[in-house]
Amino acid sequence: MTSSARPLLNRRLAEFGTTIFAEMSALALRTGSINLGQGFPDTDGPEEVREAAVRALRDGRGNQYPPGPGVPELRTAVAAHQERRYGLAHDPDTEVLVTAGATEAIAAALLALVEPGDEVVAFEPYYDSYAACIAMAGGTRVPVTLRPHENSFRLDLDELRAAVTDRTRLLLINTPHNPTGTVLTREELTAIAELAVERDLLVVTDEVYEHLVFDSAEHLPLATFPGMRERTVTIGSAGKTFSFTGWKVGWVTAAPELVTAVRSAKQYLTYVSSGPFQYAVAEALALPDSYFAAFREDMLAKRDLLSAGLATAGFKVFRPAGTYFVTTDIRPLGESDGFAFCRALPERAGVVAIPNAVFYDHREAGAPFVRFAFCKRTEVLADAAERLRKAFAR
Ligand SMILES: *Cc1c(COP(=O)(O)O)cnc(C)c1O
Repeated sequence: MTSSARPLLNRRLAEFGTTIFAEMSALALRTGSINLGQGFPDTDGPEEVREAAVRALRDGRGNQYPPGPGVPELRTAVAAHQERRYGLAHDPDTEVLVTAGATEAIAAALLALVEPGDEVVAFEPYYDSYAACIAMAGGTRVPVTLRPHENSFRLDLDELRAAVTDRTRLLLINTPHNPTGTVLTREELTAIAELAVERDLLVVTDEVYEHLVFDSAEHLPLATFPGMRERTVTIGSAGKTFSFTGWKVGWVTAAPELVTAVRSAKQYLTYVSSGPFQYAVAEALALPDSYFAAFREDMLAKRDLLSAGLATAGFKVFRPAGTYFVTTDIRPLGESDGFAFCRALPERAGVVAIPNAVFYDHREAGAPFVRFAFCKRTEVLADAAERLRKAFAR
């Protein structure tokens, strides 16, 4: 220990102690609860993709440092995916960068593009790494709160416009949005694009749930909107789409100058990562449309199963149009403090969930909301729904 009274953790990170996920996962273990807190699947992705990783490893592909920008096979596959899905053409050599998951892509983009004192506008509730990465970059975060309207959380475009100042450097967008399940509409994205062009802002857009959109919702990459291709850093990941969250393979697609800037930061974070898995993900991205359709159908059924269970138990359910999370309002249960509710839930019902307040700067705005993950086996979700019904339904 140091002898001075100075805290060990520096000022930039002081507010980010340990995450709620550690506390809740420990609670889940201690009480034998079903853990619907953290968002990772309880089954692995396609067998042929797992086999592709084994083959790469056995064939000695990727066991040593892969190239800094990522292996050519994966960069080509990412470019082909963006072209096939969205008609977005990218040069695999200059406009694609492979990262250690979307997490590193977010960190590298912010560290590269934000100058100390710059303002970064982002939606709250935030994905949990955004606030910490903005802080590490020395930026100031400016939240725009997504607010509940009937069955979903919506962006107020006037609030977004008002949040932009002369100090704003970039907009950090996430669609489909974790934790609310909101998928931004064409009209909303058009307005965001117009604002970015008018105020000459950079945009970093986290689209890791691009393949998980339900019902009539459609994922539209921000980079496809007028004036956005040259100012947008698009972030994708294999973790959520292929159910291999432990592999940590993500990527950035952007104009050459932006990719070069992000790579400047990335090379001093991990340098490179996930060698053999990069080859496997290249094969995964080339899977036929039927894989992506079946994956979406499966998650849709899980969404409906858990949502119905939560509604029967008495929660108000915000039907997610995307992602594998469902946000609920606990006020119909006579509760209003999501933290207290989630701390008591394992003893009360044998289920673990996350209080959305942890994703807010304005904690009170998120107080009554609680998030459940539905990327779990059907029997696990059915069991959780039954436990919640027993604990709450009258
Ligand atoms: C899971 C998640 C990430 C992190 O993705 P990795 O590829 O596992 O690093 C980033 N953004 C959002 C919104 C997520 O839900």
